[in-house]
Amino acid sequence: MRLKDKVAIVTGANSGIGKAIAERFAAEGAHVGVNYRVRGNNAEVAQAIVKSLPTEGIAVAGDVSKREDVERMVAEVVAKFGRLDIAVSNAGMEIKKPFLEVTDDDWNKVLSVNLYGAFLISQVAARQIVKQGPGGKLIFISSVHEDIPFPEYASYCASKGGVRMLMRNLAMELAPYKINCNNIAPGAIATPINQAVLDDPEAKKNALGEIPWGRFGRPEEVASVAVFLASDEADYVTGSTYYIDGGLTQQVTKY
Ligand code: NAD
Repeated sequence: MRLKDKVAIVTGANSGIGKAIAERFAAEGAHVGVNYRVRGNNAEVAQAIVKSLPTEGIAVAGDVSKREDVERMVAEVVAKFGRLDIAVSNAGMEIKKPFLEVTDDDWNKVLSVNLYGAFLISQVAARQIVKQGPGGKLIFISSVHEDIPFPEYASYCASKGGVRMLMRNLAMELAPYKINCNNIAPGAIATPINQAVLDDPEAKKNALGEIPWGRFGRPEEVASVAVFLASDEADYVTGSTYYIDGGLTQQVTKY
């Protein structure tokens, strides 16, 4: 058990990568706050995930782009388990649109969840970790697009590039408190965020053509790196981005 008795919160943990991370953390002995945004059947799904975990967990409702929600989410986890050791900023969204058509509303929605949300959860979690001491782990799920351009996703790329620099700054500022800060940058992972591509044979073929490994990644493959970064084994790892992309970022020139 690599996370025995640690306490974690994972944002956007009712789906995809966040769900896989919450489940892996619990399998490694952690108590997990499973965050979900109130929408559709997310509450029921989050409750079912918590019930299925081998450790005691808690479902925490909240929108990561609202400070009062994020403060309450962390407070609920701390009230139940007495501390917080690990925060995973995973919740995210994207809007595909040609740059010339992007509206203020599109831009603000994506930046407020992906970048402002990452700022909020990392700050609220770090304040708790500093208060309780000694040390903890902040993990951000950014994207290969923290570095690689993606036409028609300007807001998404800007948000993830922002998360890259947020993480690197925090790694410096929070080092005195022994809070490790790292990014995980997934490539193309088979989750609901990619459903449109997965359902479109032509788009899927094009995507696979970009991936040397020849397949989409699985959420569990992201979760296994998150376990490492959350564990004591990563105590000397900070300020890094871990790419999990089947070689996507190597950008082979094909002409
Ligand atoms: P997903 O759509 O399954 O999960 C996204 C999660 O974020 C959902 O649980 C959703 O409810 C939650 N969420 C969105 N807005 C929220 C808000 N305001 N407050 C709280 N929760 C909110 O997709 P996923 O692939 O699991 O995405 C998880 C993270 O991984 C995202 O940050 C995404 O950008 C990143 N990522 C995914 C891929 C991929 O290929 N799947 C690649 C790179 C990065």
